[in-house]
Amino acid sequence: MTSPPPADAVGIDVGATKIAAVRVTADGTVAARARRATPRRTADELVTTISGLVAQVRGERTAGVGVGLPGMVDARTGALAFAPGLEFGRAPLRALLAEALGLPVVTDNDANAAAWAEYRLGAGRAHDHAVLVTLGTGLGCGVVVAGRLLRGAHGFAAEASHLIVDPQGPPCECGKRGCWGVSASGAAIARLGQQAAAARPTTLLAHLIHRGTRAAGEAVTEAALGDDEQALAILDRIGTLTGTGLAALANLFDPDVLIVGGGPVSAGDLLLEPARAAFTRHLYSPADRPPVPVLPARFGSEAGAVGAALLALAQAR
Ligand SMILES: [Zn+2]
Repeated sequence: MTSPPPADAVGIDVGATKIAAVRVTADGTVAARARRATPRRTADELVTTISGLVAQVRGERTAGVGVGLPGMVDARTGALAFAPGLEFGRAPLRALLAEALGLPVVTDNDANAAAWAEYRLGAGRAHDHAVLVTLGTGLGCGVVVAGRLLRGAHGFAAEASHLIVDPQGPPCECGKRGCWGVSASGAAIARLGQQAAAARPTTLLAHLIHRGTRAAGEAVTEAALGDDEQALAILDRIGTLTGTGLAALANLFDPDVLIVGGGPVSAGDLLLEPARAAFTRHLYSPADRPPVPVLPARFGSEAGAVGAALLALAQAR
């Protein structure tokens, strides 16, 4: 007698400020959700918080837990090697969590998890070679090659955040200028929005930012949808730099789809059209290749958590 396939898995996305948990069935349906603030000081606190979230959302037939982490994850051991937003260093998180939960645990980089969700069931589902970037606090990247996540020798592949897209751009914590993560992330949109609002305080953008009812990045999107000139220019600039980065990734990996995720994608073509134009300009020999679509991610801000659950389900089979 064969055992029935696993019913579902729990996916966890550890963000800079919040941890999201979802229970996901094999078809990608989210059956339960929970979230808590991210404890950043010690690995033990993080394990306790994740355990609490798993207890909240798990079901009777939950087969495992997938955890997306905001940093470098050792693909062999599942240990966290480094995460810029967490105050502790290297930690054997997969082992600690498996012991605490009594369930199989998979850990991976959060953008890898998001890329897996989009490849399996989202914008990349009709493709075998997909590249995803997410514009958030920083910039995340995941690459699927021939149906498998590209992890490299250690699990640290596809780190696109420090690829230089604007040599005259803002300084980065790594000591260089114009890295993708500081030049064209969600945080960059917020920064440019605040600068624009300070320079011209009577515009729609300035009004939305100074009212303070939404994050500055969201205010830029809303103002752009309301035809605000400065907001449109910001999205055009961020889109152009994003397309420049995507062209570098396409030259390296030759994907058949490029997927852009994160909050700013709610601006739609206001962001993606300049990205497509710059992508074509910077791609090597575009006229000699089949067109590569640049698409918005389907799973939005839940892609990391859903993908982590799908990685756990794949392992449980
Ligand atoms: Zn950098």
